Amino acid sequence: MNYDPEAIIQDADIEQAEFERMGARLAALKRQGVCTHGSVVGMGDDGIAHYPEARGLKPGQLRCTDCGRVFDDHNAWLDALPH
Ligand SMILES: [Zn+2]
Repeated sequence: MNYDPEAIIQDADIEQAEFERMGARLAALKRQGVCTHGSVVGMGDDGIAHYPEARGLKPGQLRCTDCGRVFDDHNAWLDALPH
């Protein structure tokens, strides 16, 4: 990302617009009742469920704190995120 003192539109402005587009898309999905799985929890490395939603998970699994879907691992969660 660069700052060009001569430019009317900076790289940060373009990046901000992309974030706003992404946020609008996620909000539209939520309005349609589609969970975007934006928040997950897993068991701690110590084997303790530090959050109620983590109870019953196997090591490495993650549970969405919104819809409750369980993902077998971090990559499975990433694959389920809106792209
Ligand atoms: Zn979810």
